[in-house]
Amino acid sequence: MIEFGKIYKYSDYICTVNMLKDKYNKNMRVINIGKTWENRDIALFIIGRGNNSVAFSSGVHGRESINPVIMLKIIEDCCSYREEYWRENTLYVIPLLNPDGYVTAMERGYRMWKGNGRGVDINRNFPSVTWKKKFIGDKALSEPETMALVRFFNQYKTDMYIDFHSRGKEIYYYRSAMDEEYNRKQLKIAGKISKLTGYTIAEPFREMETGDGGGNTVHYFSEMYKKPALTVETVSGDAEFPLEPYEQKDAYNEIKDIWRLD
Ligand SMILES: [Zn+2]
Repeated sequence: MIEFGKIYKYSDYICTVNMLKDKYNKNMRVINIGKTWENRDIALFIIGRGNNSVAFSSGVHGRESINPVIMLKIIEDCCSYREEYWRENTLYVIPLLNPDGYVTAMERGYRMWKGNGRGVDINRNFPSVTWKKKFIGDKALSEPETMALVRFFNQYKTDMYIDFHSRGKEIYYYRSAMDEEYNRKQLKIAGKISKLTGYTIAEPFREMETGDGGGNTVHYFSEMYKKPALTVETVSGDAEFPLEPYEQKDAYNEIKDIWRLD
Protein backbone atom coordinates (compact mmCIF):
# COMPACT_ATOMS: atom_id res chain seq x y z
CA MET A 1 0.00 0.00 0.00
CA ILE A 2 2.75 2.43 0.87
CA GLU A 3 4.64 3.38 -2.24
CA PHE A 4 8.29 4.25 -2.32
CA GLY A 5 10.06 6.47 -4.82
CA LYS A 6 7.74 9.45 -4.49
CA ILE A 7 7.83 12.67 -2.51
CA TYR A 8 5.55 12.68 0.52
CA LYS A 9 4.22 16.15 1.13
CA TYR A 10 2.74 16.62 4.58
CA SER A 11 -0.76 16.08 3.16
CA ASP A 12 0.42 12.74 1.66
CA TYR A 13 1.83 11.76 5.02
CA ILE A 14 -1.51 12.51 6.73
CA CYS A 15 -3.43 10.60 4.03
CA THR A 16 -1.23 7.56 4.67
CA VAL A 17 -1.70 7.83 8.44
CA ASN A 18 -5.47 7.86 7.91
CA MET A 19 -5.31 4.94 5.51
CA LEU A 20 -3.40 2.88 8.09
CA LYS A 21 -5.89 3.88 10.81
CA ASP A 22 -8.83 2.69 8.73
CA LYS A 23 -7.26 -0.48 7.45
CA TYR A 24 -5.68 -1.84 10.62
CA ASN A 25 -8.02 -0.65 13.34
CA LYS A 26 -8.20 -4.16 14.86
CA ASN A 27 -4.62 -4.64 16.03
CA MET A 28 -3.43 -1.05 16.09
CA ARG A 29 -4.30 2.18 17.87
CA VAL A 30 -3.36 5.74 16.99
CA ILE A 31 -3.22 8.39 19.69
CA ASN A 32 -2.30 12.05 19.45
CA ILE A 33 0.36 12.78 22.03
CA GLY A 34 0.67 16.50 21.50
CA LYS A 35 0.18 19.55 19.32
CA THR A 36 2.87 21.68 17.70
CA TRP A 37 3.19 25.49 17.65
CA GLU A 38 1.46 25.43 14.26
CA ASN A 39 -1.32 23.26 15.65
CA ARG A 40 -0.39 19.99 13.98
CA ASP A 41 -1.05 16.70 15.80
CA ILE A 42 1.81 14.42 16.82
CA ALA A 43 0.65 10.85 16.21
CA LEU A 44 1.68 7.78 18.17
CA PHE A 45 0.96 4.32 16.72
CA ILE A 46 0.60 1.40 19.13
CA ILE A 47 0.76 -2.09 17.69
CA GLY A 48 0.17 -5.10 19.93
CA ARG A 49 -0.51 -5.45 23.63
CA GLY A 50 2.36 -7.55 24.94
CA ASN A 51 4.73 -6.95 27.82
CA ASN A 52 7.91 -6.63 25.73
CA SER A 53 8.00 -3.20 24.21
CA VAL A 54 10.11 -1.09 21.89
CA ALA A 55 9.56 2.52 20.85
CA PHE A 56 10.65 4.16 17.60
CA SER A 57 10.61 7.83 16.71
CA SER A 58 11.68 9.70 13.61
CA GLY A 59 11.25 13.06 11.96
CA VAL A 60 12.76 14.88 14.95
CA HIS A 61 14.72 16.98 12.44
CA GLY A 62 12.58 18.62 9.75
CA ARG A 63 14.79 17.96 6.74
CA GLU A 64 15.24 14.25 7.43
CA SER A 65 12.29 13.48 5.24
CA ILE A 66 12.43 9.79 4.43
CA ASN A 67 12.38 8.07 7.84
CA PRO A 68 8.77 9.10 8.60
CA VAL A 69 7.62 7.36 5.39
CA ILE A 70 9.71 4.29 6.18
CA MET A 71 8.14 4.17 9.66
CA LEU A 72 4.67 4.12 8.10
CA LYS A 73 5.73 1.17 5.96
CA ILE A 74 7.13 -0.62 9.01
CA ILE A 75 3.81 -0.01 10.81
CA GLU A 76 2.04 -1.61 7.86
CA ASP A 77 4.41 -4.61 7.97
CA CYS A 78 3.85 -5.02 11.69
CA CYS A 79 0.06 -4.88 11.34
CA SER A 80 0.23 -7.73 8.83
CA TYR A 81 2.56 -9.81 10.98
CA ARG A 82 1.28 -12.87 12.86
CA GLU A 83 -1.09 -11.99 15.65
CA GLU A 84 0.44 -14.24 18.33
CA TYR A 85 3.58 -12.13 18.18
CA TRP A 86 1.62 -9.06 19.22
CA ARG A 87 0.18 -10.83 22.25
CA GLU A 88 3.66 -10.79 23.74
CA ASN A 89 5.09 -7.65 22.16
CA THR A 90 4.20 -4.02 21.70
CA LEU A 91 5.71 -1.58 19.23
CA TYR A 92 5.25 2.15 19.69
CA VAL A 93 6.00 4.37 16.70
CA ILE A 94 6.03 8.15 16.48
CA PRO A 95 6.81 8.54 12.78
CA LEU A 96 6.90 12.34 12.73
CA LEU A 97 7.66 14.10 15.99
CA ASN A 98 8.24 17.44 14.30
CA PRO A 99 5.63 17.96 11.57
CA ASP A 100 6.14 21.76 11.49
CA GLY A 101 9.82 21.27 10.71
CA TYR A 102 8.95 18.72 8.03
CA VAL A 103 6.63 21.20 6.33
CA THR A 104 9.22 23.98 6.62
CA ALA A 105 11.94 21.84 4.97
CA MET A 106 9.78 20.16 2.36
CA GLU A 107 7.26 22.82 1.37
CA ARG A 108 8.55 26.22 2.36
CA GLY A 109 11.88 26.08 0.60
CA TYR A 110 14.13 25.82 3.67
CA ARG A 111 15.67 22.54 2.60
CA MET A 112 18.35 22.48 5.33
CA TRP A 113 15.82 23.16 8.15
CA LYS A 114 16.29 20.98 11.23
CA GLY A 115 14.27 22.80 13.89
CA ASN A 116 10.59 22.90 14.77
CA GLY A 117 8.09 25.59 13.76
CA ARG A 118 9.96 28.31 15.62
CA GLY A 119 13.43 27.09 14.79
CA VAL A 120 14.34 25.21 17.98
CA ASP A 121 16.29 21.99 17.50
CA ILE A 122 14.19 19.42 19.40
CA ASN A 123 17.19 17.14 19.62
CA ARG A 124 18.98 19.74 21.79
CA ASN A 125 15.98 20.45 24.02
CA PHE A 126 15.85 17.48 26.40
CA PRO A 127 16.86 17.95 30.06
CA SER A 128 19.88 15.63 30.24
CA VAL A 129 23.32 15.91 31.84
CA THR A 130 24.78 16.97 28.47
CA TRP A 131 22.24 19.77 27.86
CA LYS A 132 23.82 23.21 27.41
CA LYS A 133 22.32 26.67 27.18
CA LYS A 134 22.81 27.89 23.61
CA PHE A 135 21.28 31.38 23.67
CA ILE A 136 19.73 33.80 26.16
CA GLY A 137 16.41 32.39 27.32
CA ASP A 138 17.22 28.88 26.08
CA LYS A 139 15.55 26.29 28.30
CA ALA A 140 15.34 22.52 28.12
CA LEU A 141 11.79 21.23 27.67
CA SER A 142 10.62 24.53 26.19
CA GLU A 143 9.00 22.96 23.11
CA PRO A 144 5.67 21.12 22.72
CA GLU A 145 7.36 18.35 20.69
CA THR A 146 9.88 17.73 23.50
CA MET A 147 7.08 17.68 26.08
CA ALA A 148 5.09 15.23 23.98
CA LEU A 149 7.95 12.74 23.85
CA VAL A 150 8.74 13.13 27.56
CA ARG A 151 5.08 12.50 28.43
CA PHE A 152 5.03 9.48 26.14
CA PHE A 153 8.14 7.98 27.80
CA ASN A 154 6.65 8.56 31.21
CA GLN A 155 3.27 7.09 30.40
CA TYR A 156 4.26 4.01 28.41
CA LYS A 157 7.54 2.97 30.08
CA THR A 158 8.93 1.16 27.05
CA ASP A 159 11.84 -1.32 27.39
CA MET A 160 13.93 0.19 24.62
CA TYR A 161 13.94 3.32 22.47
CA ILE A 162 15.40 3.96 19.02
CA ASP A 163 15.42 7.39 17.41
CA PHE A 164 15.93 7.33 13.63
CA HIS A 165 17.79 10.18 11.98
CA SER A 166 19.63 10.76 8.68
CA ARG A 167 22.56 10.73 7.54
CA GLY A 168 25.57 8.46 7.87
CA LYS A 169 24.44 4.79 8.07
CA GLU A 170 25.67 4.79 11.65
CA ILE A 171 24.56 3.72 15.11
CA TYR A 172 25.20 5.89 18.17
CA TYR A 173 25.15 3.99 21.42
CA TYR A 174 27.67 5.57 23.81
CA ARG A 175 26.57 7.75 26.78
CA SER A 176 29.24 9.55 28.74
CA ALA A 177 26.70 10.20 31.52
CA MET A 178 26.10 6.47 32.06
CA ASP A 179 28.26 3.75 33.64
CA GLU A 180 30.34 1.07 31.98
CA GLU A 181 27.79 -1.68 32.41
CA TYR A 182 25.08 0.39 30.74
CA ASN A 183 27.38 1.17 27.82
CA ARG A 184 28.37 -2.48 27.46
CA LYS A 185 24.70 -3.40 27.05
CA GLN A 186 24.23 -0.57 24.59
CA LEU A 187 27.20 -1.77 22.52
CA LYS A 188 25.79 -5.27 22.40
CA ILE A 189 22.49 -3.98 20.97
CA ALA A 190 24.36 -1.69 18.57
CA GLY A 191 26.26 -4.78 17.38
CA LYS A 192 23.00 -6.59 16.61
CA ILE A 193 21.61 -3.60 14.74
CA SER A 194 24.88 -3.25 12.84
CA LYS A 195 24.73 -6.87 11.75
CA LEU A 196 21.13 -6.46 10.61
CA THR A 197 21.55 -3.17 8.76
CA GLY A 198 25.19 -3.08 7.68
CA TYR A 199 25.55 0.28 9.46
CA THR A 200 28.74 1.27 11.31
CA ILE A 201 28.91 1.66 15.07
CA ALA A 202 30.02 5.22 15.91
CA GLU A 203 33.06 5.52 18.20
CA PRO A 204 32.31 6.72 21.77
CA PHE A 205 34.10 10.05 21.28
CA ARG A 206 31.61 10.91 18.55
CA GLU A 207 28.69 11.02 21.02
CA MET A 208 28.85 14.80 20.82
CA GLU A 209 30.80 17.02 18.50
CA THR A 210 32.69 20.07 19.75
CA GLY A 211 30.24 22.85 20.48
CA ASP A 212 27.26 20.50 20.39
CA GLY A 213 24.43 21.57 22.70
CA GLY A 214 23.64 18.03 23.96
CA GLY A 215 20.20 17.18 25.33
CA ASN A 216 19.24 14.57 22.74
CA THR A 217 16.15 12.35 22.88
CA VAL A 218 18.31 9.30 23.60
CA HIS A 219 20.41 11.07 26.27
CA TYR A 220 17.23 11.82 28.17
CA PHE A 221 15.79 8.31 27.84
CA SER A 222 19.07 6.66 28.92
CA GLU A 223 19.48 8.83 31.98
CA MET A 224 15.84 8.83 33.03
CA TYR A 225 15.01 5.14 32.58
CA LYS A 226 18.46 3.43 32.52
CA LYS A 227 17.16 1.32 29.63
CA PRO A 228 18.64 0.99 26.11
CA ALA A 229 18.31 3.99 23.80
CA LEU A 230 20.11 4.31 20.48
CA THR A 231 20.25 6.65 17.53
CA VAL A 232 20.23 5.02 14.09
CA GLU A 233 21.23 7.20 11.14
CA THR A 234 19.88 6.05 7.78
CA VAL A 235 21.11 7.14 4.31
CA SER A 236 24.72 7.60 3.20
CA GLY A 237 26.67 10.48 4.72
CA ASP A 238 26.98 12.43 1.46
CA ALA A 239 23.23 12.41 0.61
CA GLU A 240 21.80 15.88 0.01
CA PHE A 241 18.78 17.47 1.67
CA PRO A 242 15.95 17.21 1.07
CA LEU A 243 16.62 13.49 0.78
CA GLU A 244 15.68 11.98 -2.57
CA PRO A 245 12.67 9.64 -2.67
CA TYR A 246 14.80 6.94 -4.32
CA GLU A 247 16.61 6.61 -0.97
CA GLN A 248 13.41 5.36 0.70
CA LYS A 249 13.53 1.81 -0.57
CA ASP A 250 17.17 1.06 0.27
CA ALA A 251 16.91 2.62 3.72
CA TYR A 252 13.72 0.64 4.36
CA ASN A 253 15.41 -2.62 3.36
CA GLU A 254 18.25 -1.86 5.75
CA ILE A 255 16.17 -1.07 8.85
CA LYS A 256 12.91 -2.95 8.26
CA ASP A 257 13.63 -5.77 10.75
CA ILE A 258 14.93 -3.77 13.71
CA TRP A 259 11.58 -4.11 15.51
CA ARG A 260 12.12 -7.90 15.66
CA LEU A 261 15.51 -7.60 17.34
CA ASP A 262 15.73 -10.00 20.25
ZN1 LIG B 1 18.69 14.28 12.87
